[in-house]
Amino acid sequence: MTPQDKEAFEELLANCADEPIRFPGAIQPHGLLLTLSEPELSIIQISANVETLLARPAPELIGQPLQSLIGDAHAAQVREALQQSTLSDAPPLHFRLNGTAFEGLLHRHQDVLILELEIHVENFQPRNVAGTETHLGRMLARLQKAQSLQALYDISVKEIQAMTGYDRVLIYRFEEEGHGQVIAEASDPSMEVFNGLFFPASDIPEQARELYRTNWLRIIPNADYQPVPLVPKLRPDTQTPLDLSFATLRSVSPIHCQYMKNMGVLSSMSISLLKGDRLWGLISCGNRQPLHVPHELRTACQTIGQVLSLQISAMEALEVSRQREEKVEALALLNQAMIDSPQNVFDGLANQPQVLMALANAGGIAIIEDKQLHRYGNCPEPEDIRALHKWLQERGEPVFASHHLASVYPPAAQYQQVASGVLAMSLPKPVDNGVLWFRPEVKENINWSGDPRKPLDLENSDAGLRLRPRTSFEIWKVEMAGISTKWSHGDLFAANDLRRSALENDLARQVRREQEAVRARDELVAVVSHDLRNPMTVISMLCGMMQKAFSSDGPHTSRRISTAIDTMQQAAGRMNTLLEDLLDTSKIDAGRYTIAPQKLDVAQMFEEAQSLLAPLALDKDISISFEADPDLSIHADPERLFQVLSNLVGNAIKFTPRLGTVDVFAKSVGDDIVFTVRDSGEGIPKDHLPHVFDRYWTVKEGNPNGTGLGLYITQGIVEAHGGRIVAESEPGQGSEFRFTVPRLD
Ligand code: ADP
Repeated sequence: MTPQDKEAFEELLANCADEPIRFPGAIQPHGLLLTLSEPELSIIQISANVETLLARPAPELIGQPLQSLIGDAHAAQVREALQQSTLSDAPPLHFRLNGTAFEGLLHRHQDVLILELEIHVENFQPRNVAGTETHLGRMLARLQKAQSLQALYDISVKEIQAMTGYDRVLIYRFEEEGHGQVIAEASDPSMEVFNGLFFPASDIPEQARELYRTNWLRIIPNADYQPVPLVPKLRPDTQTPLDLSFATLRSVSPIHCQYMKNMGVLSSMSISLLKGDRLWGLISCGNRQPLHVPHELRTACQTIGQVLSLQISAMEALEVSRQREEKVEALALLNQAMIDSPQNVFDGLANQPQVLMALANAGGIAIIEDKQLHRYGNCPEPEDIRALHKWLQERGEPVFASHHLASVYPPAAQYQQVASGVLAMSLPKPVDNGVLWFRPEVKENINWSGDPRKPLDLENSDAGLRLRPRTSFEIWKVEMAGISTKWSHGDLFAANDLRRSALENDLARQVRREQEAVRARDELVAVVSHDLRNPMTVISMLCGMMQKAFSSDGPHTSRRISTAIDTMQQAAGRMNTLLEDLLDTSKIDAGRYTIAPQKLDVAQMFEEAQSLLAPLALDKDISISFEADPDLSIHADPERLFQVLSNLVGNAIKFTPRLGTVDVFAKSVGDDIVFTVRDSGEGIPKDHLPHVFDRYWTVKEGNPNGTGLGLYITQGIVEAHGGRIVAESEPGQGSEFRFTVPRLD
């Protein structure tokens, strides 16, 4: 299209938008239109064709009562119809005036009563029709049976064509941006096929759409008509043109008539399809010859439009679930690919590029994982993808979809042929990651049924310039620059679902990696502590031997060496304990901790414990007591149980200041013996309490040698005996550790 052509289009479109389609001041000539005062029913305005149809000049009728035009009997019929609560409930008004049959249609709008006297087509005989009434019933039943939306559309157009006899019946669906596509067609074989074609938004101007939304049906029996003016031109009460939004005789824009003629049709009818209160599409009928479908048949078509509207809303919901089902298999396949991938989840996806691409009907895909970028199909350049990905990350949406990317991300205009549309998902990970699906510009992929390379024969005459199907397609192409086909519910569902399973897989992988790291560390600890034990024993032994050689009452040098050996021996002792603890820990971790239980008398055990632990308490002037109910016996490993007591008592002494107290009890409670170690020490802060039994958890302050293993092992030993251990503490008042061991009767 040359710039001049484009300019001319724009001008035309602008004119279209200004067209007063609701207030044309005129009607089509297939009837008369009157406005009447109420309740007198005197004529306020009347269409000028009253002169040709009823041989009465319009000016002389103004102010006259209705009966002076249509006679008393018909006027009485009108009055009766006006008694009805809703005018549409009134029985049809059939008049015969001046030898012509008329059908009277009444409606009120903007405080004025409008009576249309439409010429009645008697004995209307469309092709293939035998009895409209039964046909309508059967057709509704067939509509209800349609299994898919497409079947529903196809049945509808066929039936309407059969019922009305139009050469062409189309269903035309609007897209979000306003352009439309023909999605079903029933046409006479001699007609050019329109099915599948796109039309620009400008083909149906905004104000026409608004009118279609509020008004179910429009008809133009013959586009080659002379508009009939109203007399007087303006409403006398308001001095404004009469609003004809709901008048069936409303005259239409001359541009529209030209458009029809260029499309090769002289008669048209359109029925609105609504989804909720939104204009979803149109059933658009066209005939090469003038065709006047009578009112009752139009009402039937309107009912079909309404039923279809309801069905569309209902079926679209089903359609969404069908679209989802369609993706399930591919999603399962991709999920498995992620599970099977040894490295990371995105590698798994990269192994299935075809499936991934088909999942969202994309033309190309990119998979990003850190420094890696895989591309398949038609994609933008790697640096463009990286930049786009960065922009997407900044938006922070887990799943992003656009079928007009350049409108939100202008740099995308550079590569809109391959990526007008983008669907993308990414995972919340510290490294760059994501899957991007690209869709090409839609106009690149769609051909007009004619030869799109043939130069356009734009006629610069009249309004004919743009109003041809091929021109229309060219305009559509301009409007569709940078736009891809829309991502469906199914596509979005697929991206979200893939993201969910990628996230799960990634998380599982992370947990597994962490577990492996922990296991590796534990194995190292086990091996190292085991292997260090022998050399440590040797060091301890040798220290003992050396101690004898350098006795402390020898000369000065030997005294210093003796002290050094002491320190060494202590350090070696601590190291041994630590090694023991580490070994125990690794056994507990691995579930390999074993005990050798035997019958133990608790009182006797307490006595031994007291003699061994009391000296520790004595050092800090802490009073320590052991008290057991009489005759308590347990089944326990004596060494291990002593380890438990000495850990708990050791901690109690360690965390209790001088002159404090430590009390140990054993009591029989139910099937258990409950051991309690209570101290009057500093206590444990509330937020520490849940962690004291955790492995390696320790407070270093005032506890430089703490390893955080003592309570962990203690708990392990108690649990190995079939018991439980708990800690309670009142900070500043002291702590209490209680553990149970099953009683032996
Ligand atoms: P460690 O004593 O080597 O630090 P433990 O596992 O025996 O390791 O104890 C863990 C932590 O629990 C200690 O560091 C200390 O903060 C707290 N704790 C244990 N027993 C007591 C107690 N009787 N009074 C106060 N705090 C205690």
